[in-house]
Amino acid sequence: MDKNFQEEQFTGITTFTPPLYKQRYQFIKDLVGKYKPKKVADLGCADCTLLWMLKFCSCIEVLAGLDVCASVLKEKMHRLSPLPGDYLQPAERSLTVTLHHGSVAHKDSCMLGFDLVTCIELIEHLEQSELKKFPEVVFGFMAPSVVVISTPNSEFNSLLSGVMLFRHPDHKFEWNRAQFQSWALETARCYDYSVEFTGVGHPPRGMENVGFCTQIGVFVRKYPQTSESAQPREPTEAAYKTVFKAVYPSLKDEKYLRNAVVGEVIFAAQIIKRSLTDRLMLEHEEYNDDPAERKFQPSINCFSEDLGRLVGKHVEESMKPFVNGNVVYIPLTTIFSFPKVNRLCGTLDKLRELIAGKVTLSSDGSAVMFNTEHENEEN
Ligand code: SAH
Repeated sequence: MDKNFQEEQFTGITTFTPPLYKQRYQFIKDLVGKYKPKKVADLGCADCTLLWMLKFCSCIEVLAGLDVCASVLKEKMHRLSPLPGDYLQPAERSLTVTLHHGSVAHKDSCMLGFDLVTCIELIEHLEQSELKKFPEVVFGFMAPSVVVISTPNSEFNSLLSGVMLFRHPDHKFEWNRAQFQSWALETARCYDYSVEFTGVGHPPRGMENVGFCTQIGVFVRKYPQTSESAQPREPTEAAYKTVFKAVYPSLKDEKYLRNAVVGEVIFAAQIIKRSLTDRLMLEHEEYNDDPAERKFQPSINCFSEDLGRLVGKHVEESMKPFVNGNVVYIPLTTIFSFPKVNRLCGTLDKLRELIAGKVTLSSDGSAVMFNTEHENEEN
């Protein structure tokens, strides 16, 4: 993972390309790619930049952020709201994003059941009393499958410009690798996790002995969690205040699924109808026959080749559309063969249920009916 990050020649002042915070976020994105968590919580999420990046990871269905500072949390939280495009084309997955105001020193049942918990540059901001409670809250209570903790590696500080004591005035401490690793190993041991150490921000060439600028511990729970242990042991009072919640439009929600399916059905039916009427028109021109006398059968044989290409399979007799006067009948089985309709509905019965009342069907419910009369008037 680390080899993807660029390293700068040591010039006395170390800078990183991409910037260090982006390397930390990229590390988390890579981890999401590896573990495919459905539920991710970012503790000490500040202005929600990492959460905003994670909302594009399609495996994630629940995103939560927690920060003790309400004003920084609210600064840019509206970027986490769905955009008009999300409504125009709802995603297949569901996604809920929630932001909580509160401290990692307190337990709240809203933080139960997560797969991945990230704590990026958080622990060094904790007071001694908070740091003491942190392992029990995160590893004991939340107990996600994976926890990622990043924190500055103080051994790197001499290579950074302008760092006197700590890298940030709000830091309560900065640990060297031995200090972080002994804390992490002890925490992992207490709560049955394994931990591996890595980092981002390569040291300059010749200075490798200082280690990464940001040190990272990836903790993985040793034993699977039972559904019972994901529940609070005693009813806990809500310690956090929810300050933001966005539920993204999703095809998992029947309301959006219905709209999407109706749209796809009309689209598929229009293509079939247009292809069919083009064929008939062509034939009419070729033979200059009387439309009233026109026999449908010769056209449909040629047409079924077109249709076969559209649905990507052999078109059986029962799937062939037919014309009666001004009405084109397109069997539902044909529309169901369109890959997107098929994927969205799963079964023919579900297709019928989803379009009921929205698309005109033949009296036996087996075909979609299209009246070409008004269309001709428009033309
Ligand atoms: N994770 C972000 C922000 C790091 S700064 C990033 O990578 O850029 C640390 C953040 O932790 C700040 O936003 C601060 O308000 C928050 N924080 C400090 N103490 C906290 C606590 N006890 N509980 C929750 N958040 C805390």
